[in-house]
Amino acid sequence: MPEGHTTHALASRLNVAFAGSAVGVSSPQGKFAGGAALLDGLALVEASAWGKHLFVEFGGERWLNVHLGLIGKFSVMPRLAPASERTVPVVGQVRLRLLNADWVGDLRGPTVCAVVTAEKVEQIQARLGPDPLRPDGDGDQSDLALRRISRSARPIAELLMDQAVLAGVGNVYRCEVLFRHRVDPFRPGTEIRPTTWRAIWDDLVVLMPLGVAFGQILTMDDQVADAMQAMAEVADGSAAAHTAVVTGASPGDHFERRFYLYKRTGEPCRVCGSRVRTQLVAGRNLFWCGRCQRRR
Ligand SMILES: [Zn+2]
Repeated sequence: MPEGHTTHALASRLNVAFAGSAVGVSSPQGKFAGGAALLDGLALVEASAWGKHLFVEFGGERWLNVHLGLIGKFSVMPRLAPASERTVPVVGQVRLRLLNADWVGDLRGPTVCAVVTAEKVEQIQARLGPDPLRPDGDGDQSDLALRRISRSARPIAELLMDQAVLAGVGNVYRCEVLFRHRVDPFRPGTEIRPTTWRAIWDDLVVLMPLGVAFGQILTMDDQVADAMQAMAEVADGSAAAHTAVVTGASPGDHFERRFYLYKRTGEPCRVCGSRVRTQLVAGRNLFWCGRCQRRR
């Protein structure tokens, strides 16, 4: 289930593969044939993400808006056969295909795939809360989310999933970040202390880029420390081996998949030993520790 880190990694990968080149756009499945025809042959200018929304700018001020939803996947892979072979085999229900000489991008199962105007892009973005992964996502942005939280009587666990409050956080980051700060997930927004919120925001600003870089959500302290170390080495230029990981070429298999709480119902809390509990909140299973999470 893609969260904001997936969309941001996808935007980077689309830029590596397609930015600046004329792109063949088609809809092998047929459902997006009309939209594809509007984009076919245009240059891809730049892809960017805001929360779980992907925006791809093409020449002629045309934009592609994609939301992967719960099951959507957008694979961007180097073409294996030589570019002289004009067709690339289609596997499954491909709603949208992007193709240039070296790369093929196949989108399957999105909830949104539409050609939109620049005005529509602005409208969509205006409805979204701040995104901890956006470069402009600091300071004022954190306060903007806080204003929305502190006006609401809904539980903080529900507010974190509301894309109009905060964009990009999904179920895994929600559960894990509340646990990391020992926050009671059922506290209404009105009772959340500003210092608590700022600590959560600052944590997401650190955690989510690691999710982008490594293609998986990392929240446990030891894994976060290892990932930050690896990132620092890359920044030094001393660890070329990490480059593939950082560019998202081999995502998802760098770290053992483990969390404090996520999908650990009934198992002992890793901190206090109490059983991890679960309940539907905002349509998804919230996992929490009733003993550790008392703060507001
Ligand atoms: Zn606990």
